[in-house]
Amino acid sequence: MALWHPYTQHKTAPLPVEIARGEGALLWDKDGNAYIDAIASWWVNPFGHSNKYIADAIYKQLTTLEHVLFGGFTHKPAQLLAERLLEILPSSQKKLFFSDNGSTAVEVALKASLQYFYNKGEKRTKIIALENGFHGDTFAAMAASGISFFTEAFRGSMIEVSRIPAPTTGREQESLDTLNGLLATGDYAAFIFEPLVQGAAGMVMYNPAPLDALMAACRAHNVFTIADEVMTGFGKTGRNFACDYLTRQPDMMCLSKALTGGTIPMAITTFTQQIFDGFYDDDVNKALFHGHTFTANPTGCAAAHAALDLLLTPEMQENIQRVSARHLDFMDEILRHPRVKTARVQGVIFALEIEREGEEAYYGGFRNRLYDFFMANGVVMRPVGNIVYILPPYIITDAQLERVYAVIKAALAEVF
Ligand SMILES: *Cc1c(COP(=O)(O)O)cnc(C)c1O
Repeated sequence: MALWHPYTQHKTAPLPVEIARGEGALLWDKDGNAYIDAIASWWVNPFGHSNKYIADAIYKQLTTLEHVLFGGFTHKPAQLLAERLLEILPSSQKKLFFSDNGSTAVEVALKASLQYFYNKGEKRTKIIALENGFHGDTFAAMAASGISFFTEAFRGSMIEVSRIPAPTTGREQESLDTLNGLLATGDYAAFIFEPLVQGAAGMVMYNPAPLDALMAACRAHNVFTIADEVMTGFGKTGRNFACDYLTRQPDMMCLSKALTGGTIPMAITTFTQQIFDGFYDDDVNKALFHGHTFTANPTGCAAAHAALDLLLTPEMQENIQRVSARHLDFMDEILRHPRVKTARVQGVIFALEIEREGEEAYYGGFRNRLYDFFMANGVVMRPVGNIVYILPPYIITDAQLERVYAVIKAALAEVF
């Protein structure tokens, strides 16, 4: 086999499952076995696999203008997409910069933060991030990520990042105090965070109010706030964006994953007017010198348009509330299980932690036994250590959700 897979130790990993087809919340392997995609293929696919509405929009764009360079050129799909996104984004967001994936969206936000102060001649070269955050695997994004085994090998080659605890219940004050200590130094350009839900950490959740307090502290010290909504964006938390739960608005946002309904890789970093103005100058050297070959690919934009159409239908909004309500019922039930340490829900995101001393390793043995059990029972879920989470396509049926819950209950009875 010629393929090198992501996050995979090829010496010990089982062979990958060959998927031949997908439809709605289901995937079929090459032998015809069906699996419920309970994690929306790494959180990208809210509207189901092989969605015909998005596919038609992509085909139409492919046969009109599949791609054109974005340096010196523009096109309607990008212009209209920007206008539509500005209608639903927090009103502070005024400028959109396209790139290719979540990591590049973060890379752009961090580079813009650092260069904004460089352009001004102000020395602010460090970044603040949350413990156990995840922001991607390119260098700056990786530096901001706090899950150590992802980044350990690259220590010493990274921008300087200081970490504060996520403001989870009981740690709000500690989080704010640590932040204030850092802000007092004047060394920091930006604070990046996953608003309300830290995905890769195992769907760790916290409340809007303490995040508002952290953002207010940053504002008081002219430190930019970057809401990385790569995972949380486009309905996952129950509203269009996790930032919609806040009273404050961020200076930048990172969007990707569900942006195109899980069809074409694309990302956007959004900015306030103030940040854009920090690059607007007669001096060409003050421009943001960042770009990718496929920036604002028209086909990707067409896919994002179609995805937005679907997201904003009343039916899809009802689906989000339906899934969320089902999760809450399941949480009430499963919290009584003796092996369940804790459970939590935010929008379509459900997570539970299994009581299992010493088996919290991200890719440890217990995690692998759970994963194998779920796959053998026809459900795609990727536990994070002892944390099992569901983040299904919004169109998952009630029967499919019930099946996912039943398989989790069976795992609690059978997997040790
Ligand atoms: C997945 C993710 C990223 C990285 O996105 P890629 O497309 O994998 O590069 C960044 N931030 C968050 C919050 C994510 O969940």
